[in-house]
Amino acid sequence: QPVVAVVGRPNVGKSTLVNRLLGRRQAVVKDTPGVTRDRVSYDAVWSGRGFTVVDTGGWDPDAEGVYASVTAQAEMAMSTADAILLVVDANVGVSVTDEAVAKVLRRSDRPVLVVANKVDNQAAEAQVAELWSLGLGEPYPVSALHGRGSGDLLDEMLRRLPETPREQLSPSGGPRRVALVGKPNVGKSSMLNRLVGQQRAVVDETAGTTVDPVDSLVELDDEVWRFVDTAGLRKRVKTADGTEYYASLRTRSAIEAAEVAVVLIDGSVPLTEQDLRIIGTVIEAGRALVIAYNKWDLVDDERRRKLEKEIDRDLVQVRWAERVNVSAETGRALGKLAPALRRALESWDQRISTGRINSWISEVVAAQPPPVRGGKQPKIMFATQAQTRPPTLVLFSTGFLEAGYRRFLERRFREAFGFAGTPVRVVVRVRE
Ligand code: GDP
Repeated sequence: QPVVAVVGRPNVGKSTLVNRLLGRRQAVVKDTPGVTRDRVSYDAVWSGRGFTVVDTGGWDPDAEGVYASVTAQAEMAMSTADAILLVVDANVGVSVTDEAVAKVLRRSDRPVLVVANKVDNQAAEAQVAELWSLGLGEPYPVSALHGRGSGDLLDEMLRRLPETPREQLSPSGGPRRVALVGKPNVGKSSMLNRLVGQQRAVVDETAGTTVDPVDSLVELDDEVWRFVDTAGLRKRVKTADGTEYYASLRTRSAIEAAEVAVVLIDGSVPLTEQDLRIIGTVIEAGRALVIAYNKWDLVDDERRRKLEKEIDRDLVQVRWAERVNVSAETGRALGKLAPALRRALESWDQRISTGRINSWISEVVAAQPPPVRGGKQPKIMFATQAQTRPPTLVLFSTGFLEAGYRRFLERRFREAFGFAGTPVRVVVRVRE
């Protein structure tokens, strides 16, 4: 469901407004600067439509200065919300801080509504027009305390919410893009020829007729996939020794052009640094990952046991990758490639709602709080999946979170929500 963030200086009445929007007293905490709240996001319903209210004032208890704290709120709102309510005290008028925040919010691609709060009497009403000067359109007069105007505000807010909330994805056009990569001689050309050979030739209609098509369209499992930058593979142009620099640049650009990478590894011989480096490139680029152990026809029981040990030693950090054991020579298990690609891409595209993430994070943190640093217990106030492709988890914390704890959270995040086949990025925003 859509997320609505409430932003504003301390004491303008954010919490009171949030309570009003929720229609019940679940957020009640006095809006005192420096007060840490336990929750900042709440689920609400208006006119039958559900939405999540994020009280950004609940985050960021330690920020020095109102200015820093409100600017941080605006940043948080812009990275999480589908709509933003900027609350201003109509009795006070536009302050320097309000102006600074408005300036930040004017860059937002999401709707921003100016809420003129504390309009409890005629004198306040006269002040409302002044708030046009924030450059964010018509101010909406409300009295959060008495409830006046909050219904109209909610109607307007729901009307302005984008059709597609951040939670949803626009479908990507065309066949999904796959990079087939691996060090020389692992069987990339053989694999591609095998995949192309299993079907009627699919011609790349987007490439001109005078130049060689760079990509190969391949039909697997009733679906067409675009294998990117395969011209060299199909022509069986070999990368001689000494051209590794070129080859690795080529690998990187293929990975960047793709949504998912199949890293081909020769399963019949020990893993090498180069195999690991290519996997690292995929993760760095944030692409979905399928590891295909090729030449499986040459893998006997003994080699298999050794390989599993090598994987345990060198590839523990990528346990989440999709894996297939194949043979380009015999065609073994090639049918498993498309389902693995599909699963990896599904994870890559997956978005978990802010509401679910916050109930998850509060449970995880309650069971295992972040390690104390410098005598202070960092507190995670709020979490959201800010992005997909790759999934990016953003944590808003009152203190630095150690790498070990971030990895722990990533593991738990995967356990709770899946994400097999895709790297997951964990970003921590700290206010110290
Ligand atoms: P590339 O450099 O990654 O494109 O590798 P090639 O496709 O040229 O393959 C290198 C060598 O490995 C060739 O001699 C292939 O015949 C052989 N090869 C490829 N796949 C397999 C496989 O699954 N099993 C076996 N036994 N040999 C393979």
